[in-house]
Amino acid sequence: MTDLILSESLANARARLDEALSAAGRPAGAARLLAVSKTKPAAMIRKAWQLGQREFGENYVQEALDKQAELADLDAIVWHFIGPLQSNKTRDVAEHFSWVHSVDRERIVRRLNDQRPEALGPLDICLQVNISDEASKSGVSLDALPGLAEVVLTMPRLRLRGLMAIPSPAEGLSAQRAPFARLREALEDLRERFPEAPLDTLSMGMSADLEAAVLEGATMVRLGTAIFGERQTR
Ligand SMILES: *Cc1c(COP(=O)(O)O)cnc(C)c1O
Repeated sequence: MTDLILSESLANARARLDEALSAAGRPAGAARLLAVSKTKPAAMIRKAWQLGQREFGENYVQEALDKQAELADLDAIVWHFIGPLQSNKTRDVAEHFSWVHSVDRERIVRRLNDQRPEALGPLDICLQVNISDEASKSGVSLDALPGLAEVVLTMPRLRLRGLMAIPSPAEGLSAQRAPFARLREALEDLRERFPEAPLDTLSMGMSADLEAAVLEGATMVRLGTAIFGERQTR
């Protein structure tokens, strides 16, 4: 992808988000753009940063660490870990990211808390919810969600910010909205249970379903393909 195309696709993604917010009757800036850069080279991230993008999402720990090392000179860049997280990788994530969106079990919660360097301040956490109820997908069930949230809230080095989901692909706005509505309701329920918690984040919506997610209250949309183009299979 050339620099010119990247600058156009990033501008298009921003315009698309602005339009979706406006169509939903929500204020400009009510949802922000997370640029999902997995499999894309550090040079492309640098270019997006030069165009004003600050938040980037990565899925694979070693790939992300390599790119972070290459991009260490970029001010105010914010790294979000959004991929499946194995226990043996929690230390790298706790030490090198600001956010984790894919937390779905207690063992991972405890390790991230124990391994988070105090000097970095709290690690922002979204719990990934299995919202489409597929046996194969990761994510905590809606039933187990309040219990897991309670565990995160007892951890001094973690800050529970909200929920994330990756619904199974669906065609059409209303089919796409249904799982996002369930995630929104789950966040509302957690806010009632834990009124002191800083629960302000609904991480939902990707290149194919951003509009549906914004209609249901997404505060962070995670766009990969729409910004950086198609990915080669890894
Ligand atoms: C890859 C990925 C995205 C981006 O998906 P696109 O369809 O390319 O926008 C968003 N969220 C997660 C968790 C991902 O793994």
